[in-house]
Amino acid sequence: MGELGGAVLQCDCGATAGPLGLCVDYYHGILAEEQADPQMYSWHAPVVCAYLLQHPSRAHEKYLDGQFRQLQLFMDKGLDALLRVAAHQVARNKHRARSSYDMAPLAEYAPLPPGGPPGHFRATLCGLPVRDGSFVSDGHPAYGRRIEIIAQATVESWRFVQS
Ligand SMILES: [Zn+2]
Repeated sequence: MGELGGAVLQCDCGATAGPLGLCVDYYHGILAEEQADPQMYSWHAPVVCAYLLQHPSRAHEKYLDGQFRQLQLFMDKGLDALLRVAAHQVARNKHRARSSYDMAPLAEYAPLPPGGPPGHFRATLCGLPVRDGSFVSDGHPAYGRRIEIIAQATVESWRFVQS
């Protein structure tokens, strides 16, 4: 997507690259930093869902619907509710080896519209500020609010996709 020769690089999601590069570079930066920061790691699920829904060519298509619903649950009921659903699913998967992905808590949310992906999101990972090599230099609540905005932008753009 990006042009060579000094032109601005553009990510698959439509965003312009930030100082660290494209969203994939930001994503890897977040995954590395959150490994050493349990509080930051609590936003792992929405970060992964938003990244994959904004760059579906890097995702497994069959999981995108569940990830879209997880972001809606996150917006609707908050981070704790999302973490409870995730923990519940892990427990179920351990209990029953062939148990399918448990959609019950996510069933009330809209399915992923056909016809995507959207070409633009008003907030993306490569728009996140990084100071002193950290995503959380101004505190975890500020980081969490930025992840919420990205999650919301992801859901909004997908909702506007026309099949
Ligand atoms: Zn991107």
